Amino acid sequence: MDADTALRRIGYVNLPAQFEEERTEIMQAVEGVFRRGDFIGGEAVGKLELELSAYLGTPHVVTLNSGTDALSLAMKALGIGPGDEVITPPNSFVASTASIVAVGATPVFADVLPDQNIDPAAVEAVVTPRTKAIMPVHLTGRMADMNPLMKIADKHSLAVIEDSAQSVGSTYDGRMSGTIGTFGCFSAHPLKNLNAAGDAGFVVTADAELAARIRRLRNHGLINRSDVSEWGTVSRLDTLQAEVLRIRLRHLPSVILRRRRNATQYRQELAGVPLFIPPCRDIEFNTFHTFVVQTDRRNELQKFLATKGIETTIHYPVPIHLQPAAAHLGHRRGAFAVTERQAEEILTLPVNQFLSEFDISYICSSIREYFA
Ligand SMILES: *Cc1c(COP(=O)(O)O)cnc(C)c1O
Repeated sequence: MDADTALRRIGYVNLPAQFEEERTEIMQAVEGVFRRGDFIGGEAVGKLELELSAYLGTPHVVTLNSGTDALSLAMKALGIGPGDEVITPPNSFVASTASIVAVGATPVFADVLPDQNIDPAAVEAVVTPRTKAIMPVHLTGRMADMNPLMKIADKHSLAVIEDSAQSVGSTYDGRMSGTIGTFGCFSAHPLKNLNAAGDAGFVVTADAELAARIRRLRNHGLINRSDVSEWGTVSRLDTLQAEVLRIRLRHLPSVILRRRRNATQYRQELAGVPLFIPPCRDIEFNTFHTFVVQTDRRNELQKFLATKGIETTIHYPVPIHLQPAAAHLGHRRGAFAVTERQAEEILTLPVNQFLSEFDISYICSSIREYFA
């Protein structure tokens, strides 16, 4: 081990390195916004919406303040509220469930498959006459099994709200994440693959009326300068963030390519190591928002890797149904066995686009060393 290796620090993300790659473009764009002073509703916002629309191949994109707002405004636009149920997995980032509660509806959980995504059979089992929508979460960059989910939705006339926060650019059966259901909801939080310099999100839909309603809801419910058709909120994307996202959208294919390359190297170099890594299905194109492995020796492995200068994380350590905030839903430990077991066994390895082949090899040999 040379001195460099001994001091090696490998992080989950590398935002300073990202800035170095695009410094000139970003600084020019930021200066442009300050010169024009079009901080709210500038031209860049509309341009970004068109560019996202072209990239995703969907007719309507409405940019918003966050991915959480994308989820809750999608439900508001559908008229989902008190008395309605929305089916979602309990192993997501808390925002998916929180958005359901925010509109006054009831989250109903369905357990997940070994690949961490919602189990269509579990969804079908909890449909009731009050169910209004299914909210699958495409966790880790891998899309949920949409064909059976869409069949269930059709059969029971349910809306499908894709939580695509972790899967921009991912595809399933040749279709882009977010474009299969009624709505696709995206986050452009700094830690996502397409990331702003602060909070940001957007919602996509093929339905012009629903898109128009969300455009009103994001801007106080205003239909023109002075008339309000319904009570809205403020969830507009800042022009500065739109400029940043326009630049980063151009870089996104390269970001995805580099993350996929890292994931392939992990698979090759970790072959034979006693870790569960969900296999890639032919039907999917995974963008690796995270690279998650599973082992019943997770906590020790995480500590060992930390001594090697390798930062790992857990997405997510506490299942949503066991959060103190979810107490009113009345779920006990044991209710969603797969999710609960995964919460104890999952470990997220760094997969960001700035890692070198050498970095990934170093992580893999450290993992091999642990299991040896
Ligand atoms: C990040 C994330 C969100 C929320 O996005 P924000 O932009 O932070 O509001 C929602 N769902 C999932 C699965 C996420 O990872």
